[in-house]
Amino acid sequence: MLAASFGGLGGLVLLDMALRIEPKLPVYYLDTGLLFAETYAFIRRVEERYGIAVTGVQPELSLVDQARRHGEALWERDPDACCAMRKVAPQRAFLANYDAWITGLHQTTIATRQAVRSVAWDAGSNLLKVSPLASWSDLDIAAYADANDIPHNPLTDAGYASIGCVPCTRRVQPGEDARAGRWAGFAKTECGLHYPELLKTNVDPVESKVDPSESKEI
Ligand code: SF4
Repeated sequence: MLAASFGGLGGLVLLDMALRIEPKLPVYYLDTGLLFAETYAFIRRVEERYGIAVTGVQPELSLVDQARRHGEALWERDPDACCAMRKVAPQRAFLANYDAWITGLHQTTIATRQAVRSVAWDAGSNLLKVSPLASWSDLDIAAYADANDIPHNPLTDAGYASIGCVPCTRRVQPGEDARAGRWAGFAKTECGLHYPELLKTNVDPVESKVDPSESKEI
């Protein structure tokens, strides 16, 4: 099962390589309901190019349910709790029946990404995490992308160096770290998918499951 955020180029490079080996490899992304319109459109474009159907993994709580339980715009007050509910918990539930997940993680100048290993045990999800590009640099990624005409999220051309949910992503200025545009104003630099130990929240994403009687989709 290949995870792709459709934000970074590494995930697209890996997707391209993996589908050459196994055209039917299942691919998923975490559909928080808060991604950029450009990202959703880009996913459709990638599906068309490769002839695949990408699975969007959604949270238990709709945005309305989350607001009802935890208040409006939780990401502005407790982004760790929001990521736990909209990313970490859904992914763990989705991967429960798999033996491994594959990521496009690679070495970058970002502090938390400098010790990426090719194969690691994901204790949170209780399965293997495989990162085939672990030893690749940003230059390696860019070179493969150029040589193979790999599509990229158009937001990167507009100054977004790292792309996630709309409320937690801004453009970076020249000289800023690529992750400076994520969760600006918070010390947070990771969503918790790769480093669950970095999540600091009192909200239990499992306890936040919605009562069907109060569910109302938007
Ligand atoms: S990135 Fe922001 S909006 Fe998205 S799940 Fe995390 S805190 Fe919520």
